[in-house]
Amino acid sequence: MTRVTAERPIGVFALQGDYARHAEAWRRCGVAVREVRRAADLEGLAALSLPGGESTTMLRLLGVTGLYAAFGEALSRLPVFATCAGAILVGKDGERLPAPPFGVLDAGIARNAYGTQVDSFEADLDAPVLGDGAGFRGVFIRAPRFLRLGPGVETIARHGEEAVAVRQGPVVAFAFHPELTDDLRFHRWFLDAVVAPHAAAASRTSAPSTTPRPAVA
Ligand code: GLN
Repeated sequence: MTRVTAERPIGVFALQGDYARHAEAWRRCGVAVREVRRAADLEGLAALSLPGGESTTMLRLLGVTGLYAAFGEALSRLPVFATCAGAILVGKDGERLPAPPFGVLDAGIARNAYGTQVDSFEADLDAPVLGDGAGFRGVFIRAPRFLRLGPGVETIARHGEEAVAVRQGPVVAFAFHPELTDDLRFHRWFLDAVVAPHAAAASRTSAPSTTPRPAVA
């Protein structure tokens, strides 16, 4: 039970990037989606999905639309599924960016770390978090590299020895693009292992802590 409903959809950052592919992947998982372009779109979401694209343009657009602060606040309280440029936005210490990245993931990230567009590639990854030990075909497009991972950051996919997808609590970031393959196992894992427990914990803290008891004489 994933607790993503039409009332509490997944918000997909839609100012720039492959947000249509993110939205399509979530819909294929059977969950409601809302494209996020203004602060009001951030109300009542179950999670936020940040696409690949161009992190410098994304940060510039967050500035000119006035969304930067509200977006940062939403990133600090919601489960996050961020791919490629989206991963750069949630990390720390990204280089040559027009505004600071949001830092909800304690990871240093090097942009375009494998080279230019022609150095884009596909590779078989190890993803033990998906349970069955099977690999996952990763699509890397002008991909970033995770340089430094803080102590609370867990690796959820590896290319050889290198971490290419990581998780810190409710924040999950990918150097590659799971939304560009037909394999939705990472999306489903995120709904089950990250969004559902987060929603359950949130409803526990907002519910009264004890059931009111009738007064006894
Ligand atoms: N190289 C891009 C950046 O720096 C990311 C590329 C991608 O999202 N596929 O933002």
